[in-house]
Amino acid sequence: MGALSTIEKLGILADAAKYDASCASSGTAKKNSLGGKGIGSTEGMGICHAYAPDGRCISLLKILMTNHCIFDCHYCVNRKSSNVRRARFTAQEIADLTLSFYRRNYIEGLFLSSGIIKSSNFTMEQMVEAARILREDHDFRGYIHLKTIPEADPELVHQAGLYADRVSINVELPTDSGLTRLAPDKDARQIETAMGKTKSDIVEMKDAKKRFRHAPRFAPAGQSTQMIVGADSATDADIVGKASRLYDNFRLRRVYYSAFSPIPDASAVLPLKRPPLIREHRLYQSDWLMRFYGYAPGEVMQATEADGNLPLDIDPKLAWALKFRERFPLDVNRASREELLRVPGLGVTAVNRIIASRRHRTLRLDDIAKLTVSIAKVRPFLIAADWRPLTLTDRADLRSLLAPKAEQLELFAA
Ligand code: SF4
Repeated sequence: MGALSTIEKLGILADAAKYDASCASSGTAKKNSLGGKGIGSTEGMGICHAYAPDGRCISLLKILMTNHCIFDCHYCVNRKSSNVRRARFTAQEIADLTLSFYRRNYIEGLFLSSGIIKSSNFTMEQMVEAARILREDHDFRGYIHLKTIPEADPELVHQAGLYADRVSINVELPTDSGLTRLAPDKDARQIETAMGKTKSDIVEMKDAKKRFRHAPRFAPAGQSTQMIVGADSATDADIVGKASRLYDNFRLRRVYYSAFSPIPDASAVLPLKRPPLIREHRLYQSDWLMRFYGYAPGEVMQATEADGNLPLDIDPKLAWALKFRERFPLDVNRASREELLRVPGLGVTAVNRIIASRRHRTLRLDDIAKLTVSIAKVRPFLIAADWRPLTLTDRADLRSLLAPKAEQLELFAA
Protein backbone atom coordinates (compact mmCIF):
# COMPACT_ATOMS: atom_id res chain seq x y z
CA MET A 1 0.00 0.00 0.00
CA GLY A 2 2.91 2.35 0.76
CA ALA A 3 3.82 2.21 -2.93
CA LEU A 4 0.54 3.74 -4.06
CA SER A 5 0.69 7.29 -5.35
CA THR A 6 -1.81 9.90 -4.19
CA ILE A 7 -3.62 9.70 -7.49
CA GLU A 8 -3.89 5.89 -7.23
CA LYS A 9 -5.21 6.14 -3.68
CA LEU A 10 -7.64 8.82 -4.81
CA GLY A 11 -8.85 6.54 -7.60
CA ILE A 12 -9.44 3.62 -5.20
CA LEU A 13 -10.99 5.59 -2.36
CA ALA A 14 -13.17 7.88 -4.46
CA ASP A 15 -14.46 4.85 -6.39
CA ALA A 16 -15.14 2.98 -3.13
CA ALA A 17 -17.23 5.93 -1.89
CA LYS A 18 -19.61 5.77 -4.86
CA TYR A 19 -21.81 3.19 -3.08
CA ASP A 20 -22.81 5.77 -0.50
CA ALA A 21 -25.98 7.44 -1.77
CA SER A 22 -26.09 10.18 0.83
CA CYS A 23 -25.13 12.82 -1.67
CA ALA A 24 -25.32 10.93 -4.91
CA SER A 25 -26.63 11.96 -8.26
CA SER A 26 -27.79 8.77 -9.93
CA GLY A 27 -29.79 7.60 -12.90
CA THR A 28 -27.79 9.32 -15.62
CA ALA A 29 -26.42 7.57 -18.71
CA LYS A 30 -22.75 6.57 -18.61
CA LYS A 31 -20.55 8.66 -20.91
CA ASN A 32 -16.88 9.53 -20.90
CA SER A 33 -14.26 11.22 -23.01
CA LEU A 34 -11.58 8.52 -22.72
CA GLY A 35 -9.78 8.00 -26.03
CA GLY A 36 -9.87 11.69 -26.88
CA LYS A 37 -13.51 11.70 -27.99
CA GLY A 38 -15.47 14.71 -26.78
CA ILE A 39 -15.12 16.37 -23.45
CA GLY A 40 -16.44 15.53 -19.99
CA SER A 41 -17.57 12.37 -18.23
CA THR A 42 -20.50 11.16 -16.15
CA GLU A 43 -18.56 8.14 -14.88
CA GLY A 44 -15.72 9.65 -12.88
CA MET A 45 -15.96 9.30 -9.11
CA GLY A 46 -14.80 11.67 -6.46
CA ILE A 47 -16.95 14.75 -6.82
CA CYS A 48 -20.61 14.63 -5.82
CA HIS A 49 -23.28 17.25 -5.37
CA ALA A 50 -25.25 18.06 -2.27
CA TYR A 51 -27.63 20.79 -1.17
CA ALA A 52 -26.40 23.24 1.44
CA PRO A 53 -28.82 24.38 4.18
CA ASP A 54 -29.53 27.56 2.17
CA GLY A 55 -30.60 25.48 -0.85
CA ARG A 56 -27.44 25.98 -2.96
CA CYS A 57 -26.16 22.96 -4.87
CA ILE A 58 -22.53 22.45 -3.89
CA SER A 59 -19.76 20.14 -5.13
CA LEU A 60 -18.07 17.92 -2.57
CA LEU A 61 -14.95 15.79 -2.63
CA LYS A 62 -16.56 12.43 -1.80
CA ILE A 63 -14.07 9.97 -0.52
CA LEU A 64 -13.32 7.21 1.97
CA MET A 65 -10.45 7.67 4.39
CA THR A 66 -9.73 3.98 3.85
CA ASN A 67 -11.44 1.00 2.24
CA HIS A 68 -9.76 -1.40 4.68
CA CYS A 69 -12.39 -2.74 7.04
CA ILE A 70 -12.48 -5.15 9.96
CA PHE A 71 -16.26 -5.64 9.52
CA ASP A 72 -17.80 -8.07 7.09
CA CYS A 73 -21.08 -6.61 5.88
CA HIS A 74 -22.21 -8.90 3.07
CA TYR A 75 -23.49 -6.11 0.79
CA CYS A 76 -20.29 -4.04 0.96
CA VAL A 77 -17.46 -4.13 -1.54
CA ASN A 78 -15.03 -3.07 1.20
CA ARG A 79 -15.88 -5.84 3.67
CA LYS A 80 -12.89 -7.66 5.13
CA SER A 81 -13.44 -10.80 3.04
CA SER A 82 -13.66 -8.83 -0.21
CA ASN A 83 -10.84 -9.15 -2.70
CA VAL A 84 -10.33 -5.50 -3.67
CA ARG A 85 -7.31 -3.21 -3.87
CA ARG A 86 -6.99 -1.37 -0.58
CA ALA A 87 -5.71 2.10 0.18
CA ARG A 88 -5.64 4.53 3.05
CA PHE A 89 -5.21 8.26 3.47
CA THR A 90 -3.98 9.88 6.65
CA ALA A 91 -6.00 12.68 8.23
CA GLN A 92 -3.40 15.17 7.02
CA GLU A 93 -3.61 13.84 3.44
CA ILE A 94 -7.41 14.19 3.44
CA ALA A 95 -7.10 17.77 4.67
CA ASP A 96 -4.40 18.59 2.08
CA LEU A 97 -6.44 17.12 -0.78
CA THR A 98 -9.55 19.01 0.28
CA LEU A 99 -7.66 22.28 0.50
CA SER A 100 -5.90 21.85 -2.83
CA PHE A 101 -9.17 20.99 -4.64
CA TYR A 102 -10.90 23.84 -2.87
CA ARG A 103 -8.22 26.34 -3.91
CA ARG A 104 -8.56 25.21 -7.52
CA ASN A 105 -12.29 25.81 -7.23
CA TYR A 106 -13.13 22.16 -7.97
CA ILE A 107 -15.14 21.67 -4.78
CA GLU A 108 -16.88 23.56 -2.02
CA GLY A 109 -16.56 20.93 0.66
CA LEU A 110 -15.82 17.39 1.78
CA PHE A 111 -17.94 14.25 2.22
CA LEU A 112 -15.86 11.82 4.27
CA SER A 113 -16.72 8.23 5.12
CA SER A 114 -14.48 5.28 5.98
CA GLY A 115 -14.10 1.56 6.41
CA ILE A 116 -13.16 0.59 9.94
CA ILE A 117 -9.47 0.17 10.63
CA LYS A 118 -8.13 -1.20 13.92
CA SER A 119 -11.28 -0.16 15.82
CA SER A 120 -14.33 2.07 15.53
CA ASN A 121 -12.74 4.57 17.93
CA PHE A 122 -9.43 4.72 16.06
CA THR A 123 -11.22 5.30 12.75
CA MET A 124 -13.55 7.94 14.15
CA GLU A 125 -10.57 9.70 15.74
CA GLN A 126 -8.84 9.87 12.35
CA MET A 127 -11.92 11.27 10.63
CA VAL A 128 -12.42 13.87 13.36
CA GLU A 129 -8.74 14.78 13.08
CA ALA A 130 -9.08 15.44 9.32
CA ALA A 131 -12.02 17.76 10.03
CA ARG A 132 -10.13 19.41 12.92
CA ILE A 133 -7.09 20.13 10.74
CA LEU A 134 -9.36 21.74 8.15
CA ARG A 135 -11.36 23.83 10.61
CA GLU A 136 -8.73 24.74 13.22
CA ASP A 137 -5.38 24.75 11.41
CA HIS A 138 -6.70 26.23 8.15
CA ASP A 139 -9.89 28.00 9.22
CA PHE A 140 -11.66 26.05 6.45
CA ARG A 141 -15.18 27.43 6.09
CA GLY A 142 -16.41 25.08 3.38
CA TYR A 143 -19.02 22.36 3.87
CA ILE A 144 -18.08 19.15 5.71
CA HIS A 145 -20.26 16.03 5.87
CA LEU A 146 -18.89 13.30 8.14
CA LYS A 147 -20.29 9.81 8.11
CA THR A 148 -20.00 8.81 11.74
CA ILE A 149 -19.47 5.35 13.18
CA PRO A 150 -22.22 4.33 15.61
CA GLU A 151 -19.96 1.88 17.43
CA ALA A 152 -17.48 4.66 18.28
CA ASP A 153 -17.32 6.43 21.64
CA PRO A 154 -20.20 8.98 21.82
CA GLU A 155 -17.67 11.71 22.72
CA LEU A 156 -15.91 11.17 19.37
CA VAL A 157 -19.22 11.31 17.49
CA HIS A 158 -19.95 14.53 19.38
CA GLN A 159 -16.64 16.01 18.27
CA ALA A 160 -17.50 15.10 14.68
CA GLY A 161 -20.66 17.22 15.02
CA LEU A 162 -18.64 20.17 16.29
CA TYR A 163 -16.58 20.29 13.09
CA ALA A 164 -19.08 19.04 10.52
CA ASP A 165 -22.02 20.82 8.89
CA ARG A 166 -23.85 17.54 8.57
CA VAL A 167 -23.32 14.17 10.19
CA SER A 168 -24.90 10.92 9.14
CA ILE A 169 -25.17 7.43 10.53
CA ASN A 170 -26.34 4.70 8.17
CA VAL A 171 -29.13 2.44 9.39
CA GLU A 172 -28.09 0.30 6.42
CA LEU A 173 -31.11 -2.03 6.22
CA PRO A 174 -34.81 -1.48 6.76
CA THR A 175 -35.31 -4.29 9.27
CA ASP A 176 -33.35 -5.41 12.32
CA SER A 177 -33.43 -9.01 11.10
CA GLY A 178 -31.94 -7.92 7.75
CA LEU A 179 -29.17 -6.09 9.57
CA THR A 180 -28.36 -9.09 11.76
CA ARG A 181 -28.20 -11.36 8.72
CA LEU A 182 -26.27 -9.09 6.34
CA ALA A 183 -24.18 -6.95 8.70
CA PRO A 184 -23.39 -9.29 11.60
CA ASP A 185 -20.94 -6.83 13.22
CA LYS A 186 -23.56 -4.07 13.44
CA ASP A 187 -26.21 -3.60 16.05
CA ALA A 188 -29.52 -1.87 15.25
CA ARG A 189 -29.91 -0.66 18.84
CA GLN A 190 -26.44 0.89 18.86
CA ILE A 191 -27.17 2.68 15.58
CA GLU A 192 -30.41 4.18 16.91
CA THR A 193 -28.77 5.12 20.22
CA ALA A 194 -26.10 7.05 18.32
CA MET A 195 -28.79 8.78 16.23
CA GLY A 196 -30.72 9.67 19.37
CA LYS A 197 -27.62 11.16 21.00
CA THR A 198 -26.86 13.19 17.86
CA LYS A 199 -30.44 14.47 17.81
CA SER A 200 -30.17 15.60 21.47
CA ASP A 201 -26.81 17.27 20.78
CA ILE A 202 -28.27 19.15 17.79
CA VAL A 203 -31.28 20.35 19.81
CA GLU A 204 -29.16 21.28 22.84
CA MET A 205 -26.56 23.18 20.85
CA LYS A 206 -29.22 25.02 18.83
CA ASP A 207 -30.79 26.10 22.06
CA ALA A 208 -27.43 27.20 23.50
CA LYS A 209 -26.73 29.15 20.31
CA LYS A 210 -29.96 31.12 20.80
CA ARG A 211 -28.89 32.10 24.30
CA PHE A 212 -25.14 32.53 23.90
CA ARG A 213 -23.74 34.10 20.78
CA HIS A 214 -20.43 32.24 21.12
CA ALA A 215 -21.86 28.78 21.81
CA PRO A 216 -20.24 26.29 19.39
CA ARG A 217 -22.27 25.24 16.38
CA PHE A 218 -23.14 21.56 16.08
CA ALA A 219 -24.05 19.92 12.77
CA PRO A 220 -26.11 22.93 11.62
CA ALA A 221 -27.23 21.02 8.51
CA GLY A 222 -28.59 18.24 10.75
CA GLN A 223 -28.24 14.48 10.45
CA SER A 224 -29.23 12.06 7.71
CA THR A 225 -29.13 8.34 7.07
CA GLN A 226 -29.13 5.80 4.27
CA MET A 227 -31.02 2.55 3.69
CA ILE A 228 -30.07 -0.10 1.18
CA VAL A 229 -33.01 -1.25 -0.92
CA GLY A 230 -33.32 -4.71 -2.43
CA ALA A 231 -30.49 -6.51 -0.57
CA ASP A 232 -32.97 -8.29 1.68
CA SER A 233 -36.65 -9.19 1.55
CA ALA A 234 -37.93 -5.94 3.15
CA THR A 235 -40.88 -4.53 1.23
CA ASP A 236 -41.49 -0.89 0.34
CA ALA A 237 -44.10 -0.79 3.14
CA ASP A 238 -41.36 -1.88 5.61
CA ILE A 239 -39.03 0.79 4.21
CA VAL A 240 -41.62 3.57 4.35
CA GLY A 241 -42.51 2.57 7.93
CA LYS A 242 -38.87 2.59 8.98
CA ALA A 243 -38.17 5.93 7.30
CA SER A 244 -41.15 7.54 8.96
CA ARG A 245 -40.10 6.29 12.42
CA LEU A 246 -36.60 7.63 11.81
CA TYR A 247 -37.91 11.06 10.76
CA ASP A 248 -40.15 11.20 13.85
CA ASN A 249 -37.71 9.85 16.40
CA PHE A 250 -34.50 11.50 15.27
CA ARG A 251 -35.64 14.56 13.32
CA LEU A 252 -33.56 13.52 10.33
CA ARG A 253 -33.09 15.96 7.49
CA ARG A 254 -33.11 13.18 4.93
CA VAL A 255 -33.38 9.45 4.53
CA TYR A 256 -31.50 8.35 1.40
CA TYR A 257 -32.40 5.16 -0.42
CA SER A 258 -29.72 3.26 -2.25
CA ALA A 259 -30.69 0.46 -4.61
CA PHE A 260 -28.43 -2.46 -3.78
CA SER A 261 -25.88 -3.00 -6.52
CA PRO A 262 -24.28 -6.41 -6.95
CA ILE A 263 -20.60 -6.26 -6.07
CA PRO A 264 -17.62 -8.30 -7.27
CA ASP A 265 -17.20 -11.60 -5.37
CA ALA A 266 -20.64 -11.13 -3.83
CA SER A 267 -21.66 -13.22 -0.87
CA ALA A 268 -24.08 -16.08 -1.64
CA VAL A 269 -26.72 -14.61 0.70
CA LEU A 270 -27.22 -11.61 -1.62
CA PRO A 271 -29.59 -11.42 -4.58
CA LEU A 272 -27.88 -11.86 -7.94
CA LYS A 273 -29.60 -8.89 -9.53
CA ARG A 274 -29.99 -5.31 -8.44
CA PRO A 275 -33.57 -4.11 -7.93
CA PRO A 276 -34.87 -1.87 -10.72
CA LEU A 277 -33.62 1.71 -10.27
CA ILE A 278 -37.21 2.88 -10.58
CA ARG A 279 -37.91 1.24 -7.18
CA GLU A 280 -35.43 3.64 -5.54
CA HIS A 281 -37.14 6.50 -7.42
CA ARG A 282 -40.62 5.44 -6.18
CA LEU A 283 -39.31 5.39 -2.60
CA TYR A 284 -37.96 8.94 -3.00
CA GLN A 285 -41.37 9.98 -4.33
CA SER A 286 -43.09 8.39 -1.32
CA ASP A 287 -40.61 10.20 0.94
CA TRP A 288 -41.68 13.51 -0.69
CA LEU A 289 -45.33 12.67 -0.15
CA MET A 290 -44.68 12.35 3.58
CA ARG A 291 -42.40 15.38 3.87
CA PHE A 292 -44.11 17.92 1.62
CA TYR A 293 -47.60 16.69 0.70
CA GLY A 294 -49.01 15.83 4.14
CA TYR A 295 -49.44 12.08 3.59
CA ALA A 296 -49.25 9.95 6.74
CA PRO A 297 -46.93 6.93 6.45
CA GLY A 298 -49.99 4.66 6.65
CA GLU A 299 -51.47 6.41 3.60
CA VAL A 300 -48.29 5.89 1.59
CA MET A 301 -48.41 2.24 2.59
CA GLN A 302 -52.00 2.11 1.25
CA ALA A 303 -50.51 2.88 -2.16
CA THR A 304 -48.54 -0.38 -2.14
CA GLU A 305 -49.71 -3.49 -3.96
CA ALA A 306 -50.53 -6.91 -2.51
CA ASP A 307 -46.81 -7.78 -2.20
CA GLY A 308 -46.16 -4.70 -0.03
CA ASN A 309 -44.25 -2.88 -2.78
CA LEU A 310 -45.10 0.36 -4.55
CA PRO A 311 -46.16 -0.07 -8.17
CA LEU A 312 -43.33 0.61 -10.60
CA ASP A 313 -45.41 1.74 -13.57
CA ILE A 314 -47.11 4.67 -11.83
CA ASP A 315 -46.01 7.06 -9.07
CA PRO A 316 -47.26 6.49 -5.49
CA LYS A 317 -49.48 9.59 -5.52
CA LEU A 318 -51.38 8.35 -8.57
CA ALA A 319 -51.50 4.83 -7.08
CA TRP A 320 -53.11 6.25 -3.92
CA ALA A 321 -55.61 8.35 -5.88
CA LEU A 322 -56.65 5.36 -7.99
CA LYS A 323 -57.26 3.33 -4.83
CA PHE A 324 -59.36 6.11 -3.28
CA ARG A 325 -61.30 7.29 -6.32
CA GLU A 326 -64.34 8.09 -4.19
CA ARG A 327 -62.47 11.17 -2.89
CA PHE A 328 -62.35 12.66 -6.38
CA PRO A 329 -63.05 14.72 -8.42
CA LEU A 330 -62.19 17.80 -6.34
CA ASP A 331 -63.41 21.27 -7.20
CA VAL A 332 -60.32 23.32 -7.95
CA ASN A 333 -62.16 26.49 -6.96
CA ARG A 334 -63.25 25.20 -3.53
CA ALA A 335 -61.07 22.32 -2.32
CA SER A 336 -58.64 22.95 0.53
CA ARG A 337 -54.88 23.12 -0.04
CA GLU A 338 -54.48 19.72 1.68
CA GLU A 339 -57.05 18.17 -0.66
CA LEU A 340 -55.51 19.69 -3.79
CA LEU A 341 -52.10 18.32 -2.82
CA ARG A 342 -53.64 14.85 -3.31
CA VAL A 343 -54.43 15.47 -6.97
CA PRO A 344 -52.03 13.49 -9.21
CA GLY A 345 -50.03 15.86 -11.39
CA LEU A 346 -50.36 18.89 -9.10
CA GLY A 347 -47.14 19.79 -7.28
CA VAL A 348 -46.74 22.06 -4.26
CA THR A 349 -45.97 25.12 -6.43
CA ALA A 350 -49.00 24.52 -8.66
CA VAL A 351 -51.29 24.15 -5.63
CA ASN A 352 -49.93 27.37 -4.08
CA ARG A 353 -50.55 29.20 -7.35
CA ILE A 354 -54.09 27.82 -7.60
CA ILE A 355 -54.86 29.01 -4.05
CA ALA A 356 -53.43 32.47 -4.83
CA SER A 357 -55.19 32.89 -8.22
CA ARG A 358 -58.63 31.65 -7.19
CA ARG A 359 -58.90 34.56 -4.73
CA HIS A 360 -59.28 36.84 -7.76
CA ARG A 361 -61.16 34.73 -10.29
CA THR A 362 -62.81 31.40 -10.99
CA LEU A 363 -60.34 28.95 -12.50
CA ARG A 364 -60.96 27.09 -15.75
CA LEU A 365 -59.23 23.93 -17.02
CA ASP A 366 -56.90 26.01 -19.21
CA ASP A 367 -55.65 27.88 -16.13
CA ILE A 368 -54.71 24.55 -14.52
CA ALA A 369 -53.10 23.31 -17.73
CA LYS A 370 -50.59 26.19 -17.49
CA LEU A 371 -49.50 24.96 -14.05
CA THR A 372 -48.89 21.28 -14.76
CA VAL A 373 -46.81 19.17 -17.09
CA SER A 374 -49.66 16.80 -17.85
CA ILE A 375 -53.23 18.05 -17.84
CA ALA A 376 -54.28 14.56 -19.00
CA LYS A 377 -53.16 13.20 -15.63
CA VAL A 378 -54.97 15.92 -13.65
CA ARG A 379 -58.25 15.99 -15.63
CA PRO A 380 -59.96 12.88 -14.18
CA PHE A 381 -59.46 14.16 -10.64
CA LEU A 382 -60.56 17.81 -10.92
CA ILE A 383 -63.63 19.94 -11.46
CA ALA A 384 -63.05 23.42 -12.90
CA ALA A 385 -65.45 26.21 -13.99
CA ASP A 386 -65.74 24.68 -17.49
CA TRP A 387 -64.83 21.06 -16.76
CA ARG A 388 -66.44 18.12 -14.97
CA PRO A 389 -64.98 14.62 -15.59
CA LEU A 390 -68.34 12.82 -15.18
CA THR A 391 -67.61 9.09 -14.86
CA LEU A 392 -63.91 9.25 -15.70
CA THR A 393 -62.72 8.14 -12.24
CA ASP A 394 -64.95 5.04 -12.54
CA ARG A 395 -63.24 3.75 -15.66
CA ALA A 396 -61.65 0.37 -15.13
CA ASP A 397 -58.82 1.24 -17.54
CA LEU A 398 -57.96 4.59 -15.89
CA ARG A 399 -54.64 3.29 -14.60
CA SER A 400 -53.44 2.20 -18.03
CA LEU A 401 -54.66 5.48 -19.51
CA LEU A 402 -52.59 7.49 -17.04
CA ALA A 403 -49.50 5.30 -16.68
CA PRO A 404 -46.54 6.84 -18.48
CA LYS A 405 -44.91 4.93 -21.32
CA ALA A 406 -42.45 2.35 -19.96
CA GLU A 407 -39.33 4.29 -20.95
CA GLN A 408 -40.42 7.56 -19.37
CA LEU A 409 -39.24 8.48 -15.88
CA GLU A 410 -41.52 11.25 -14.62
CA LEU A 411 -39.01 12.83 -12.25
CA PHE A 412 -41.25 15.60 -10.95
CA ALA A 413 -44.59 13.84 -11.06
CA ALA A 414 -45.42 13.79 -7.34
S1 SF4 B 1 -18.50 -1.30 8.22
FE1 SF4 B 1 -19.57 -2.65 6.77
S2 SF4 B 1 -20.48 -1.20 5.31
FE2 SF4 B 1 -18.90 -0.06 6.41
S3 SF4 B 1 -17.06 -0.27 5.16
FE3 SF4 B 1 -17.00 -1.91 6.66
S4 SF4 B 1 -17.93 -3.66 5.65
FE4 SF4 B 1 -18.47 -1.83 4.48
